[in-house]
Amino acid sequence: MGEDERSGKDFIREIIDEHNRTGKYDGRVHTRFPPEPNGYLHIGHAKSICLNFGIAEEYGGKCNLRFDDTNPTKEEEEYVDSIIEDVKWLGFDWEDRLFFSSDYFDQMYELALDLIKKGSAYVDDLNAEEISEYRGNVTTPGRNSPFRDRPIEENLDLFIRMKNGEFKDGEKVLRAKIDMGHPNMNMRDPVMYRILHASHHNTGDKWCVYPMYDWAHGLEDSIEGITHSICTLEFENHHPLYDWFIEELGVYHPLQIEFARLNLTYTIMSKRKLLNLVEGNYVNGWDDPRMPSISGMRRRGYPPEAIRDFCSRIGVAKINSTIAFELLEHCVRENLNKTSPRFMGVLDPLKVTIENLPDDHEEFMDVVNNPEDESAGKRKVPFSKEIYIERNDFMEEPFKKFFRLAPGKEVRLRNAYLVTCTDVIKEGDVVKELICRADLDSRGGNAPDGRKVKGTLHWVSIKHAAQAKVRSYDKLFTVEDPLSEEGESTDYLNPDSLEIKKGCMVEPAVKELGPGSSFQFERLGYFIIDPDTTEKELVINRTITLRDSWAKMQKKN
Ligand code: ATP
Ligand code: MG
Repeated sequence: MGEDERSGKDFIREIIDEHNRTGKYDGRVHTRFPPEPNGYLHIGHAKSICLNFGIAEEYGGKCNLRFDDTNPTKEEEEYVDSIIEDVKWLGFDWEDRLFFSSDYFDQMYELALDLIKKGSAYVDDLNAEEISEYRGNVTTPGRNSPFRDRPIEENLDLFIRMKNGEFKDGEKVLRAKIDMGHPNMNMRDPVMYRILHASHHNTGDKWCVYPMYDWAHGLEDSIEGITHSICTLEFENHHPLYDWFIEELGVYHPLQIEFARLNLTYTIMSKRKLLNLVEGNYVNGWDDPRMPSISGMRRRGYPPEAIRDFCSRIGVAKINSTIAFELLEHCVRENLNKTSPRFMGVLDPLKVTIENLPDDHEEFMDVVNNPEDESAGKRKVPFSKEIYIERNDFMEEPFKKFFRLAPGKEVRLRNAYLVTCTDVIKEGDVVKELICRADLDSRGGNAPDGRKVKGTLHWVSIKHAAQAKVRSYDKLFTVEDPLSEEGESTDYLNPDSLEIKKGCMVEPAVKELGPGSSFQFERLGYFIIDPDTTEKELVINRTITLRDSWAKMQKKN
């Protein structure tokens, strides 16, 4: 896939167009995003969110946010809250349609009774191990449970008693009565309810039987009147089962459509695996800026618009593939380039004294805030006799094409003056300070005689500068697909994925920005103020460098 926008419509939108032509759902388009609250959302979920909410928006339809909270043991309030925050932040609105699967436990229970009454479900006393053994495998058909032909009355009685708490965990289950010889393993009398004496975050201790995902999921869509139940490919095999439940019950029938999930290079995309990174303290929480979580990306400084743009560019398909991380970064750069104000900051300061300025010299340079956006206006940047430049912008013995500062060489201080290095002050081998001479007729950075000066450096005035701690990030893993490598994925964590620099010096205007503000440090990349910032310490994250590796990859291909 290139960086061009999708050409034409994807297969899901074509299906919807066809339904709208034939009037299948009376022109209604109603989707949902159904996360399980067992972790924080990741960029893969963003694809699903953009697809479901995006389609609803485009077709004048609706999209529900529904928590699939059928499993009481793994789900937590913290996850519900974070998911709500993330979907909102991405820019989507479910209006008054925030639902929980647990809202439907009563209805599902009644529907289960209906299935039992039809003779289409039975209570089984086999334990989990036996059930799995009786199920057979892909090449061997399963065997009927000895409890499969219980009379309807007995099944009703037992299921009600299961619900009333008369049995222990695992003692009995309710199963659909389909076909133990079915070529699709999901159709071999799947379990619908299990006994779990566990408290649920929504329903408390009301229930001790909980519906299985496969029984619950299709019903939830049916109950909510969803038209297009969009899900990832691994549910293709479950599709016939969802249809079977719906047809047996004779309830409203949504259409399930499967698409390929998003995979990204250099990262992993599974809540369970990401939880391992958090719990093993390999990262600093779910919102660590190195995480592929939405909250991590937010903290890193990825704008929601860039994530949405990325999701639209990758499109949707029926075939699994892996997208280059660099494309996501490209979308982030493109967005930040348009929206970010420019500032100057020095990560690794080296003092420069301008010998031909008076000690108390102070002047304010007029600087354009964003060359890409005139409406961003201008600001005043203080300049004085003593400034900092980036240590690696100076070389005592420069190589041939080093156009930055060196003894006797002239460079442009961005938005200020042309300066020539006249002396180098050292302590041992370490350069401590540079002495420079400014061409005072070059204010703004232009040579009065038009002479060519190649190098342009960023700088900050020492007496005006604010100090900051800057965290820079690199890929979390060293290999493209950590899950396909031998051993644990944590064996492939990048030891240099986080670099913390203290004592960085930034222009004073940066201190006025609040947490969450994005900006560019000229020549260094895009940055964001971190929420760890306090009155005493300014903490800044580097979102991304300026080098567009995606553009480079495209050129090579
Ligand atoms: P994980 O394996 O990370 O836990 P999941 O599929 O179990 O993911 P859910 O909370 O069940 O997570 O997912 C909510 C929705 O997001 C589902 O419709 C699912 O298909 C979709 N989704 C999850 N991962 C991806 C992905 N990588 N790409 C696209 N959609 C995804
Ligand atoms: Mg899941």
